[in-house]
Amino acid sequence: MTVSYYAPETLPRPPEWQDRAACRGVDPRIFYPDAETPEAIQDGRRFCISSRCPVVTECLFAALGREGGALPKYRYGVWGATGPQDRYQLYREGRKGKKDAA
Ligand code: SF4
Repeated sequence: MTVSYYAPETLPRPPEWQDRAACRGVDPRIFYPDAETPEAIQDGRRFCISSRCPVVTECLFAALGREGGALPKYRYGVWGATGPQDRYQLYREGRKGKKDAA
């Protein structure tokens, strides 16, 4: 007899923050415009804010964790109502805060 340590696919998976995202089912091009100019990014940011997305914080932290210290040109799209440049600024401020505290 073979023993499996994997849960069967029929079991419900635990809910994740993405399940509560206001942007579920929304055309992703609003968050990933062809040209990530500040003006193009605004539409995605406006959606996050005006929809009162309940997972803005989770979304932002997921992006910050994934992107690490990447330069703005290596960051893509709108996450947590922020654009690439906003997240880079948050990263830099976080690093500065750690240095000042040390
Ligand atoms: S914050 Fe914006 S991009 Fe993130 S899950 Fe909510 S609506 Fe989607």
